[in-house]
Amino acid sequence: MRPFGRVALIGLGLIAGSMALAMRRARLAEGIVGHARSAETRATALELGLVDAVHDSAAAAVNGADLVVLAVPVGAMEAIAREIGPHLSPGCIVTDVGSVKQAVIDVVAPHLPGSVHFIPGHPLAGTEHSGPRAGFATLFRNRWCILTPPEDADPEAVARLRALWEGMGANVDLMDAPHHDLVLAVTSHAPHLIAYTMVGVADDLRRVTDSEVIKYSAAGFRDFTRIAASDPTMWRDVFLNNKAATLEILGRFTEELFALQRAIRREDGAHLHAYFTRTRAIRRGIIEAGQDTDAPDFGRSVAQSPDSVD
Ligand code: NAP
Repeated sequence: MRPFGRVALIGLGLIAGSMALAMRRARLAEGIVGHARSAETRATALELGLVDAVHDSAAAAVNGADLVVLAVPVGAMEAIAREIGPHLSPGCIVTDVGSVKQAVIDVVAPHLPGSVHFIPGHPLAGTEHSGPRAGFATLFRNRWCILTPPEDADPEAVARLRALWEGMGANVDLMDAPHHDLVLAVTSHAPHLIAYTMVGVADDLRRVTDSEVIKYSAAGFRDFTRIAASDPTMWRDVFLNNKAATLEILGRFTEELFALQRAIRREDGAHLHAYFTRTRAIRRGIIEAGQDTDAPDFGRSVAQSPDSVD
């Protein structure tokens, strides 16, 4: 693809840092500048060579950019959009990486001038770590990135953004924002809430059993703890901004949980066996689709495995 000239990354954490490294590796941008809230993060991003320059304000960072990436928590998107709106260059592409799409569109789009192309996006890749030091160039490799362009989006701008993500190693899908939010409620948001709950429950239990929960965590609990270590700000914002879809899925989850509870109480082994057979097939499907490994221990021994937590 023809590289972008100046790329402005607003937010310099795990996702933006990984994008910077991936863009540099594949020479997808002539120059990368950035802005983050704190001077410390800005200095770290410079020190790591993620960006060529940092700016104290988002408005200054987007000046002259032909691609602007909003990579801040979902709850911070509106204020950033309001700030940068008047400073965007005509024709530039504005995208975001927020884990929720409709709520971001609702608060960002009204602040952007008609002369720019707003094409929201969401890379389904992450780790439980955050901040600029957490980024790595291969984070998006063989992961999906979902773009949710508005119906009247410029096809050329969508194609450029798609090429950018493909250049960073991702597979790209297009869908509308409400559908994205429902799909992610099932595949990411509800599972995170369940992991948070499970770890919270076990933390209470730990007081009773001393350190046994931690000692024997490899029996399954450990995988919950990894997910439940995800960034609290990011996940607070996800639930507040994907309320309807998450509540719908959690309602279904609760019903299923009650059904399993009843099966256990009634010693209905056939129900339990049939249920677990179905879930095992789903796991096989994920492995066959190349979205995880069936290596023992979930491939944990692979250094810095970019397990998707989002
Ligand atoms: P992160 O590592 O915590 O980084 C967030 C960055 O945003 C930091 O540089 C932070 O600056 C900056 N920031 C926060 N509030 C700001 C504000 N008001 N103004 C300017 N900068 C601000 O987060 P991340 O994991 O990269 O997530 C960023 C976005 O990607 C979120 O919308 C999230 O939903 C989405 N996402 C995350 C994942 C994942 O698994 N982590 C995956 C896909 C998409 P300071 O360090 O100075 O506070």
